[in-house]
Formats: sequence, structure tokens, C-alpha cells
Amino acid sequence: MRVQMYDLETERAADEIRRLNAKRVLVQLPDGLRPGGLTLAKELRELTGSEVILSGDSCYGACDLALTQADAVGADLIIHYGHSPMLQAPGTPVLYIEARVDFDAEALIAQAQPHVKDWATIGLTATVQHIHKLEEVAESLRKAGHDAIIGTAGGRVVHDGQVLGCDYTSAQNIKDSVDGYLYIGAGVFHPIGLSIATGRPVVKANPYTMTAEPLDDREVTRTAMKRMAAIEAAKGATRFAVIVSLKPGQLQLEAALAIQRRLEKAGKEATVIVLDEVGPIQLGNFTEAEAFVETACPRIALDGIADIHKPILTPTEALVALGEMRWEELWGRNYFSVSHDHIVYNEEM
Ligand code: SF4
Repeated sequence: MRVQMYDLETERAADEIRRLNAKRVLVQLPDGLRPGGLTLAKELRELTGSEVILSGDSCYGACDLALTQADAVGADLIIHYGHSPMLQAPGTPVLYIEARVDFDAEALIAQAQPHVKDWATIGLTATVQHIHKLEEVAESLRKAGHDAIIGTAGGRVVHDGQVLGCDYTSAQNIKDSVDGYLYIGAGVFHPIGLSIATGRPVVKANPYTMTAEPLDDREVTRTAMKRMAAIEAAKGATRFAVIVSLKPGQLQLEAALAIQRRLEKAGKEATVIVLDEVGPIQLGNFTEAEAFVETACPRIALDGIADIHKPILTPTEALVALGEMRWEELWGRNYFSVSHDHIVYNEEM
């Protein structure tokens, strides 16, 4: 079955349900795939005879695995759509289905070519939906006279060349060998992340619109200015709330407690708040907080939260606000990392 152009691999899902003899299955879908959710559930029911329950809560990333829901409904299997494998549940098997999208690589490269024509060596990156096309894209670029490199997977990403909002390892692995990056995917968040993580120019090639254009440097500058402004504003705050998300791949309680201790050592007041969903309703009523440090997903701080007009920092930004780290040490490195072990570790030294 396909929702628009997404390959939902229903036969593979059904095979896994049968293989595990799963009587009850919980299916997680990101927002973009939900318009086809009822049809998918019906199809899986008809193919397997199993009970298929859709999760209606968030499905932001592979980190957002619905373990609690699966327990609550007694699911024998979680099928998580739209993201690459990241976590396994202790009790319930998990099948990740990436919902890949095909496109005409030659035609997209024709669009990108005017923007990369001066680059001898091009680094290739993509979101998981298009990762299977990277070799074909590389071939098209080689035919056009470029060298094309795909960085090795590492960190949280499982595919060579793949980027996540919290992990640009595959791009960083090749940054000294490339003149710039061709990013295959939609949106501007990952291209900005790529630029920050590598310091190299980025051309965005969008397989949904079959268009390509360079990332505007001003977007990166704007992001830097916004982050600096948030850090500066947080320096003047005296009461902080440190946010911990219970989503399985975001839970960073030790880092949050370490940040709390560091804030207190610096004469600030800090309280840890634990929750599942980090949003305006959940945070808005904590009106005493003058600033937030969120340890969950770096995108929350970078994108901001609607109606919360107070600084929201990542843990590492909080270290900059406290004067324990310089901005220059952070920018251009792992700005987006979701691992904050270094904060706990450094405290213990
Ligand atoms: S932590 Fe954020 S960026 Fe990383 S996988 Fe989860 S939702 Fe995506």
C-alpha cells in the first residue's frame, strides 16, 4: 500500500505479524502518513486477521516509540512508520518501516547541477525516505564529472549518508573531503543543521517538488543570532525549569539533574519537570520559570514553542549561558547532539 508516494510495505508488515504470531499490533504513524492510517489498519487486519490499533499520540522520530501505549493495550508488536531503526523495546518487538519515497535521480540532478557545477567533490546526504536513492544520485553526479561521496553511518543514524535532526555524523565524517553537500529531502531544518555541523555550503534538492536551490547563508546567520539571543536572555534569568521528556529515545534525566546542579552552583534556582510531550500547554502554566533548559530533542529549542516567549536552551547552550563553555566551541560541532553524557561526565571529573 502507498499513501501518496510513500511505500508502506504492507506485505512486509503482514509477514512480521504472522512470523511473530502477533494477535494485537500497535501502529505508529507520523502526521504526514495519518491521512492513510485507517486504510492501512484495515489492510493489515485483512491480511493477518490480527487486531490493529493506531496510536494517536505524537510520532516525531524513531526516539518517540510508544512503549507505554503498547503496554497499556497489550500489543504483541509495535510497527513504527517513517523513521529508521533506533530503539528496541525490552518486552515488545518493534518493526521500523521507513516509508521510502522514489524519485527520478537523473531529473533531480539536472535541477541541482547549475548550483553544484563548481564543486569537484560533493558530499551526499538525505533523510531516511530517500536514502535508498543516494547511490543512484552519486552515479548521476559522477556521469556529470563530479566526485560524489557518501559518509559512513554512525551515532544515531543507521544508513550511510542519512541525517537526523539530532545527528549529522555521516556528513561530518566527510567534511574535509568535500566542497559542499547536496541534501536530498524537503524543508530547511536539515540543510541549516548540515551547514552548522560542517561549515560547508549546502544545496537543497527537493524530490517532492523536483526543484533545487542553494541554502541561503542568511538562514544560518538568523539561526545563530536567535540562539545567541536566547543564551543572552537566559543569562539574566534567576529561575529555571529543566525539562525531561519521557519519550524513550529522549529521556536524559541524569543530564537534567547535572544541569540543575550547575545552575544552582551558579546561584540560579532550578527545578526539573518531567513530561512526555514538550509543548505550549505543558510548559505555559509554569509561569514562574524565566527560562527553560530542555534535554529532550534539540529541535524543540531550535524551532521554539509557540506562545512560549521565554528562552529555551539546549543543555549545551545552558553551559554557554553559565560561562562554562564558549559559543565558538559549540557552533560548528555537535550543536544538535541529543547525547549530553559529556555534561554528566565533566561534572564527575
Ligand atoms: S531526538 Fe528529535 S531530532 Fe532526534 S530522532 Fe528524536 S525527534 Fe528526531
